[in-house]
Amino acid sequence: MFKVVPTQNQTPTTKHFLFMFVSTKIHSISMQIPEFPNLIHYAIPFFVITVILEVLLTVKVKMDNYKYKDAAASITMGLGNVAIGLFTKGAVLVVFYFIYNLFHVFEISFAWWAWILILFAEDFMYYWNHRIAHQSRLFWASHVVHHSSKEYNLSTALRQTWSGSFYTFIFWIPLVLIGFHPVLILVQMSISLIYQYWIHTEMIDKLPKWFEAVFNTPSHHRVHHATNPQYLDRNHAGIFIIWDKLFGTFEPEVEKPVYGLVKNIETFNPVKIAFLEWFYMFKDAFTSRISLVNRIKYVLKPPGWRHDGTGILSTDMRKEWEEKQQSEM
Ligand SMILES: [Zn+2]
Ligand SMILES: [Zn+2]
Repeated sequence: MFKVVPTQNQTPTTKHFLFMFVSTKIHSISMQIPEFPNLIHYAIPFFVITVILEVLLTVKVKMDNYKYKDAAASITMGLGNVAIGLFTKGAVLVVFYFIYNLFHVFEISFAWWAWILILFAEDFMYYWNHRIAHQSRLFWASHVVHHSSKEYNLSTALRQTWSGSFYTFIFWIPLVLIGFHPVLILVQMSISLIYQYWIHTEMIDKLPKWFEAVFNTPSHHRVHHATNPQYLDRNHAGIFIIWDKLFGTFEPEVEKPVYGLVKNIETFNPVKIAFLEWFYMFKDAFTSRISLVNRIKYVLKPPGWRHDGTGILSTDMRKEWEEKQQSEM
């Protein structure tokens, strides 16, 4: 894989040394670490069985129409995400190892207590990654995929980004610098994603109070997928809902959620689902006659922002709702 040793005719360059450095370090570290399979691959049969069960339950018990086209699009997005992950996960691991070898404060490897630490530390990073994904268009462009369905069922959980895994890993770099072993981080990232699968359902109403207080649940996550003004950009939790409560983004499920996007994309085409927001973002940033600062703002500011001040943000919609509530009281 790393055939970078210079030949006789070649003089070694910085690139050669860089690659040799990374490959030898990976080799030396990997000697001490246990083998971890890609947990997502092992979870696929479980995903298939539970989606089928949910379809059967929806049709038989709730007598509802299951939106098969929407579910097929979600499953395609999930399969694409796993396929892309075959390459990006390896690349992310190389980047993490590289940083880990340059600098890390502690040595947190595979002891039992390390798993408890990483459970909370990774979830904390997930919360901030997810919160920023809703507040900056650069990250929203890839995360919007997950919110692009107007349905809410287990197949929606599989509606995953095709572009996020190329760059969103940067949010987990602080964990590498602290000294969590790169493999420990990646395994916990997969565990978190698998945890978040079962909460994408309307089949489960509210769980016992103690569970709802600590963990992310179907009820909390229904709020996250809803477009009702009071629910916008709330409940960004991965496994623990405590972060939203601590940092002021928690909203309980009261009103029935209306799922999807404020402005829905109305397509089942997987390629459009994957890249439409990227297209609109670049269109805004590059085609208008605007200053460089405004071009950068189109990339970094929240979705909905316009340079001429005509944009409506989720915070505006929430504010309007709050004012309406107060005037009715
Ligand atoms: Zn989200
Ligand atoms: Zn979700």
